Amino acid sequence: MAESRGRFGIHGGQYIPETLMNAVIELEEAYNHYKDDPEFNAQLTELFNEYAGRPSRLYYAEKLTKDLGGARIYLKREDLNHTGAHKINNVLGQALLAKKMGKTRLIAETGAGQHGVATATAAALMGMECVVFMGEEDTKRQALNVYKMRLLGAEVIPVTSGTATLKDAVSEAMREWTNRISDTHYCLGSVMGPHPFPTIVRDFQAVISKEIKEQMLRKEGRLPDVVMACVGGGSNAIGTFYHFIEDKEVRLIGCEAAGRGVDTWETAATIATGKLGIFHGMKSYFCQDEYGQIAPVYSISAGLDYPGIGPEHAWLHDTGRAEYVPVTDEEAVQAFEYLSRTEGIIPAIESAHAVAHAMKIAPQMDKDKIIVITVSGRGDKDCAAIARYRGEDISE
Ligand SMILES: *Cc1c(COP(=O)(O)O)cnc(C)c1O
Repeated sequence: MAESRGRFGIHGGQYIPETLMNAVIELEEAYNHYKDDPEFNAQLTELFNEYAGRPSRLYYAEKLTKDLGGARIYLKREDLNHTGAHKINNVLGQALLAKKMGKTRLIAETGAGQHGVATATAAALMGMECVVFMGEEDTKRQALNVYKMRLLGAEVIPVTSGTATLKDAVSEAMREWTNRISDTHYCLGSVMGPHPFPTIVRDFQAVISKEIKEQMLRKEGRLPDVVMACVGGGSNAIGTFYHFIEDKEVRLIGCEAAGRGVDTWETAATIATGKLGIFHGMKSYFCQDEYGQIAPVYSISAGLDYPGIGPEHAWLHDTGRAEYVPVTDEEAVQAFEYLSRTEGIIPAIESAHAVAHAMKIAPQMDKDKIIVITVSGRGDKDCAAIARYRGEDISE
């Protein structure tokens, strides 16, 4: 087991100021206690099923399969969850854990606002106070999500430091946690940050691969040949991979946002262009400039433009167990349009990155092979931006 004390090979760890140590130790102890607690797990399953709408469907995309003319393609429909994406899996788990720990207040960072909305949703459900840190730039670009968070009872604090985007919101949330550990849980949004977050978030998202495995065995009587998902910080991808890591015959593919291309600065493809570094409490790969400063990243998909990748992915890359491929804006937009037309499913532009890579590999695979693509979220939120990309103003 390469995972010990929050390490994934050389990655992970707890690179944090002394002032944050007590908080992560308290969280680790609580998590170790509750993760095997039957009552905790029964309550979480109840929330997943009754509130979030799990299990999500594993849908055989027959038209897509026929049109691409190769491997049989299944879609894991995380877009059908309450709030429209996989993020609810993580926030329900963390909110329940925080509640058990006696915390009354959730704080979170958010980029595009999706994780902020999910956290505000869980806070409303559990009767907890909620404060969301969001880069000021992002609050302007994502006014609808700011409105939703406030509607759900959360306070949204615009962050003006740095580039006033996601990475600055993470830094600000960590600072706030240091100041108020007693009543506050930091509900981190992806498989990143200091240990134990990458493990906790992965375990809550692992329900995705647990279900895929059961559903696939029921439908096809065997395991898939490929499972694939888009990668921002990497939570829906690790959730999709987790229960297949030991099944060496199953290929694991993570699709990164290449933006305008991996040979430009306008990219967010961390594995393709990043270097080893330490940031946000963890050792992993990060997009950096020539001085080792975190580089500004770009993708058409706001949910994928994080300059790093979770430490477990960095390790799966190092060991060759998983493959990571870059997908450009243009390829993702084409996949967004293609899946909408062929299956009547409008995917999140993040998820469209995975669909785009499937469009490349499926035609080359034999017809008896099986690919599972996780559709991490639904695309309603992206329609205005994609229309604009295509030169049409539907001003939302
Ligand atoms: C946030 C988000 C992502 C990226 O986050 P991961 O932690 O990499 O999963 C992907 N898809 C959707 C729909 C999202 O909202």
